[in-house]
Amino acid sequence: MGSAKKKWSFILSKTRIAILGAGPSGLAQLRAFEALRKKSNSSDFPEIVCYEKQNDIGGMWNYTWRTGLDRNGEPVHGSMYRYLWSNGPKECLEFADYSFDQHFGQAIPSYPPREVLKDYIMGRLDKRALFTYMRFECPVRWVTFDQDTQRFSVTVMNHKTGEQETEEFDYVVVATGHFSTPNMPYYKGLEQFPGRVLHAHDFRDALEFEGQNILLVGGSYSAEDIGSQCYKYGAKSVTISHRGGSFGYNWPEAVNEKPGLEHIEGNVVHFSDGSSQAFDAIVMCTGYIFHFPFLPDELRLETHNCLYPDNLYKGVFFQSNPKLIYLGMQDQWFTFNMFDAQAWYVRDVIMGKIQLPNESERRKDIDSWLQNHEKLNTDAQSIDFQANYIDDLTSATDYPSFPVHQQAELFKKWLEDKKLDIMGFRNKSYASTITGTVAAQLPRPWLEIKDDSLEGFMSLKFKKAS
Ligand code: FAD
Ligand code: NAP
Ligand code: MG
Repeated sequence: MGSAKKKWSFILSKTRIAILGAGPSGLAQLRAFEALRKKSNSSDFPEIVCYEKQNDIGGMWNYTWRTGLDRNGEPVHGSMYRYLWSNGPKECLEFADYSFDQHFGQAIPSYPPREVLKDYIMGRLDKRALFTYMRFECPVRWVTFDQDTQRFSVTVMNHKTGEQETEEFDYVVVATGHFSTPNMPYYKGLEQFPGRVLHAHDFRDALEFEGQNILLVGGSYSAEDIGSQCYKYGAKSVTISHRGGSFGYNWPEAVNEKPGLEHIEGNVVHFSDGSSQAFDAIVMCTGYIFHFPFLPDELRLETHNCLYPDNLYKGVFFQSNPKLIYLGMQDQWFTFNMFDAQAWYVRDVIMGKIQLPNESERRKDIDSWLQNHEKLNTDAQSIDFQANYIDDLTSATDYPSFPVHQQAELFKKWLEDKKLDIMGFRNKSYASTITGTVAAQLPRPWLEIKDDSLEGFMSLKFKKAS
């Protein structure tokens, strides 16, 4: 009796969707639904709740000075630091339905600082409408799925009321990001190292390392960008140790590369080529782990940072339970426009516009992507792979199609520009693939511009690109 009553109550009610996280991915999902609501205004529009741990939208793009725990005792999400500028050209992450021209009303340079990019990402949102879905300061604690009712229970800690709350949903969209929980290796001797040891997640202000000899461990974006920052803001020397070979950049004299770290004695670090050097501080730029402490084993995605995590149909629907959806779990060449492509597709599946194939068909599709994924050897190939993935999604929805393959070519150009001049690539200008506008030029080299605020940046006298 009891369970029959429970069943009727949900048949009569609207479809309910929980979105976990209001960073760029979760916001893309909210906006995809909002676009539909504005267009159709139909009575069967689903009920949406977005749970967000922080007290604002924006995800990683909310800079926080905090490290460790936030004011509610929750792990701080932010991994961004002061003076962070986009590491890729903005022309590669332009929304198809909201151009940089539309937002800024003038041409701006290709590599904006964080505040400027955040302003753009937020600019297309109807905040008033979005905020009706938001539950801030509500970290998700636990999610379960009931096979009988085919519904999820989502339990959150509402720090505003001081109480835990549980609600039921037909779909759960996990958009909690995957660049927040540090992957922190151990090296013998770390516990005796007299200087500061931190992970990139906790790095905030390069000025802290002014005049110091600093070691960065890792061979990817965090290592190269934090290294460049520390050089820009006056570190005495910057050394990057990585186990995978050289970056191949023309670093300035004060920046050096070393192979893998072996062990540490006092303040002296030993490397795998037998060399050693003394340092004042060590920053582990060793990446992040996928961490979903709110999900039981049967619902939890297990993967590492790659372009096609297994068990996600179309890169988003969890294979063993496609009512569970993961956004933005890929390694990211493309970001904001990829999240849009995913969000639009997810929306159309939830609204019944796109039918999901059966489990074995989904498996076949995943496997064919995984086979191509395995064959990727070069950066250029992996950029094309992600562009093809986005193409596959947008061709099925009414998300405006955009020249994603032209953007892929820009990414390849960007890689070359970095090889030519790692400290100068941010001075380059590219043409928008959406509007054709050629980006303005910085009036001075990036290395000399130390004010990264929105006001500071917008008051620079940009030059027309020649
Ligand atoms: P996030 O932005 O990480 O958002 C996830 C949200 O989920 C957060 O708001 C978080 O508070 C919330 N959340 C987490 N756990 C819970 C929970 N249990 N309950 C409720 N809410 C929760 N991309 C670019 O395009 N250009 C760049 O220049 C760039 N620079 C970057 C620099 C750094 C240092 C890092 C780490 C990443 C950078 N990125 C950049 C990539 C970045 O990952 C994406 O731009 C984007 O932020 C990903 O969006 P997301 O919504 O998937 O995740
Ligand atoms: P990442 O790209 O996942 O790279 C992690 C690095 O850590 C890899 O080089 C890896 O080396 C190394 N590593 C992992 N475990 C290690 C260990 N035990 N010992 C030594 N090295 C180890 O992570 P990330 O560099 O932090 O970048 C994360 C995201 O942040 C990216 O999307 C990036 O674009 C973004 N980001 C952007 C900016 C910016 O816009 N300005 C700045 C920084 C970061 P192996 O390959 O050998 O495993
Ligand atoms: Mg389309």
